[in-house]
Amino acid sequence: MSLRLGLVGLGTIARAQHLPAIAATDGLTLTAIASRNATLAGVANHTDLAQMLGDVDAVTLCTPPQGRFDQAMAVLRAGRHLMLEKPPGAALSEMALLEAEAARQGVTLHATWHSREAAAVEAARDWLSRRSLRATRIDWREDVRRWHPGQDWIWQPGGLGVFDPGINALSILTALMPDARLVGADLHIPDNRQTPIAADLTLDAGHPVTAHFDWRETGPQTWQIAFETDDGPATLSEGGARFTAPGIATGGEDREYPRLYARFRDLIATGHSDCDLAPLRLVADAFLTGRRHAAPAFEDHP
Ligand code: NAP
Repeated sequence: MSLRLGLVGLGTIARAQHLPAIAATDGLTLTAIASRNATLAGVANHTDLAQMLGDVDAVTLCTPPQGRFDQAMAVLRAGRHLMLEKPPGAALSEMALLEAEAARQGVTLHATWHSREAAAVEAARDWLSRRSLRATRIDWREDVRRWHPGQDWIWQPGGLGVFDPGINALSILTALMPDARLVGADLHIPDNRQTPIAADLTLDAGHPVTAHFDWRETGPQTWQIAFETDDGPATLSEGGARFTAPGIATGGEDREYPRLYARFRDLIATGHSDCDLAPLRLVADAFLTGRRHAAPAFEDHP
């Protein structure tokens, strides 16, 4: 029998990725949404999460990280399985409480990292696992006006700023190098904003790692991790969709969200949770230890 799934927050990513991925996943059926503003044909429409909980077995939260905790706790306390968009929360302390509640209720908590499901990440992990790494450099440079128009929450405390995309790079990094540790950070924060528009990180993963996140890139958009190894250079590009190294060039179609939903279904079936907080810890460490630099005021519309 198919699990009845409810989705909260019918915004950009819910429409672009979640709805088609759910429709393509056997064993899960979208039966309800909770949205303050939007409606969706063919499912029960609620304006409030609490009203929806009676109709579903599992819930996906596609809302911004601020305010997620109360929604997530309500889902778990109702004994429903829970999938969280990245980042799983606005703070580490709330995540510990959610993990404990999921265990107490005997339900699945799935903190997703969609970039880990990109087509070439597994190939990169396999190739790198048989080489010695000398240096790693992450470049995640994109135009915030193009990708986040009108999304005020990303500039508010807890919205992560440039770490909203940057945490995707860190999710791949920690999948490849689980022991990566933050050494230092420089955070560039516009005068009129609460969150960074750019950040430069130094990490140690047994070899030096640097990460450069910038939301002011109006030229070619770059989501790339470059590796120097004892066997030559290698590059994971296009957000993890393509991997090139001596003797290998691989990639594939985008199946990130179908893979996340298949995993959510399988975690529920086997009674497990998956809540790896390593990427969020690195971001928290950057905010804890980073040097702040004032950047010019930034408006969404120049
Ligand atoms: P979005 O377009 O702003 O949509 C978020 C939705 O959440 C809104 O449409 C709204 O839906 C609901 N919401 C509830 N409380 C809100 C509040 N206080 N402020 C704003 N919206 C609120 O954001 P998004 O891009 O879909 O991102 C949502 C989550 O997905 C974030 O954690 C983000 O990091 C992650 N994500 C985004 C992308 C992307 O490319 N955009 C990619 C991967 C992951 P209702 O009107 O239906 O209530």
